[in-house]
Amino acid sequence: MTHIIDGKAISASIKLEVKNKLLSMAGQVSLKPCLAVVLVGDDPASSIYVSSKAKACGEVGFATLSLIKPSTITQNELEALIADLNNNKEVHGILVQLPLPLHINKDKIISLIDPCKDVDGFHPLNAGKLFCGTDLQNALLPCTPSGCLYVIKQSIGSLAGKNVCIVGASNIVGKPMAAMCISEAATVSLCNKKTKDLAFFTKNADVLIVAAGKPGLITGDMVKQDAVVIDVGINRTSEGKIVGDCDFESVKSKASHITPVPGGVGPLTIAFLLQNTLKAFCNSLGIKE
Ligand code: NAD
Repeated sequence: MTHIIDGKAISASIKLEVKNKLLSMAGQVSLKPCLAVVLVGDDPASSIYVSSKAKACGEVGFATLSLIKPSTITQNELEALIADLNNNKEVHGILVQLPLPLHINKDKIISLIDPCKDVDGFHPLNAGKLFCGTDLQNALLPCTPSGCLYVIKQSIGSLAGKNVCIVGASNIVGKPMAAMCISEAATVSLCNKKTKDLAFFTKNADVLIVAAGKPGLITGDMVKQDAVVIDVGINRTSEGKIVGDCDFESVKSKASHITPVPGGVGPLTIAFLLQNTLKAFCNSLGIKE
């Protein structure tokens, strides 16, 4: 029987852990961890993500600072906002919701976030630490791949010697996911839209992670029997339904474990954002979690 990974339940247990860790520090600290969330423009999906992140912060006892800016904000104004947040001692985590309007240099904005407050783990310094495997105790690692790795290890234990195929090679999901799996001694293939014969790679995977943003890209015939399948994709159909990148029913019939969409990777991403915010808070105060 295929095990459907319950991202909501796993996320709830991680959130409880974060909340309890914070409660256990009550005697040591007077401040609350504070996450600043910057939202530019009025993209409905981004607004939903930002409000779920703020809600999750409230549930575990964190403060939030929501900075909602019009899509006409200039590069200089956004850079000045980041500088203010970097200098604000009461802010421990900074998240700039992507995508940003096209006139904004996204990479420059990410690189200006103080790496110690970079709770998304997108800053080149944190990315470098992940790729080199150095100073991981202090590094902030990207939330979605961290959530995926957590459930994969829960499902099959060690990744050592496993064939992992990742479909999608973005800086925020595919590439850091590959680095994490390489560190776990897996053999990794990282596919992209130019990959020839995608099924050749997916069929050979003990663990298949899909983050392409293409509904129905992966069908059951492309999946190895008893593979663990992690569907990161979030796509809205013309009927307004949210679906992943896998054709859920046919892929489920082959997989040993699978994440549903919604209710799989999405809630895990938020749980790991809270973990990163707590880590940034503790690091800033020089205390152990
Ligand atoms: P992106 O557009 O930055 O990157 C997509 C990647 O997929 C690229 O490397 C591209 O080459 C590859 N790709 C596209 N079509 C392909 C194909 N036919 N075959 C093989 N590779 C293909 O996207 P992203 O930001 O990494 O997001 C990917 C998906 O994951 C989106 O649906 C996004 O909404 C979702 N996402 C979900 C979460 C979450 O928390 N669940 C977090 C981040 C992203």
